[in-house]
Amino acid sequence: MSEFAHQAYIGLGSNLNGPREHVEQALIALKRLPVTRLLAASPCYASKPVGPQDQPDFINAVARITTRLSPLALLDQLQALEQQHQRRRLRHWGPRTLDLDLLLFDDLSLDLPRLKLPHPAMQERAFVLFPLADIAPELTIGATRLEDLLLHMKDHDLQRL
Ligand code: AMP
Repeated sequence: MSEFAHQAYIGLGSNLNGPREHVEQALIALKRLPVTRLLAASPCYASKPVGPQDQPDFINAVARITTRLSPLALLDQLQALEQQHQRRRLRHWGPRTLDLDLLLFDDLSLDLPRLKLPHPAMQERAFVLFPLADIAPELTIGATRLEDLLLHMKDHDLQRL
């Protein structure tokens, strides 16, 4: 555990039956992580799946936390939460799982097999950038302003709920 509080952004997604509830449960779980506080959560968005279209729409949201966990310890916690949801899913619900992505951790750049920061795909994903803008409009990702990334986001199929 680090001495200092870090700021991190997490992307949440689900296309289970009742996906919105799933995302909301995950936000509650983020509040309960050790040495972590949930600072803000975006509204939920509905988005079309990337890739095969013969599956339900996704529900996405983004959260901002402060944490004294290290980046890898935070990733461990997020992956444990995914596992918990997956186990529940296998018993009761449809075919999809909860996806938690660590988007940003302070201004850190990392290129480990387990953890790449900033999250490599986040700059192209409307379902990440629009909810991020709701909670952190002034954000920069690397050297790029979120505002500028959003200017280039056209033809996105995203609905704020
Ligand atoms: P996915 O199935 O797309 O959620 O990818 C999960 C895999 O990506 C796991 O093996 C993670 O260790 C790895 N990974 C690398 N960078 C990140 C990140 N920034 N956030 C979440 N998972 C990551």
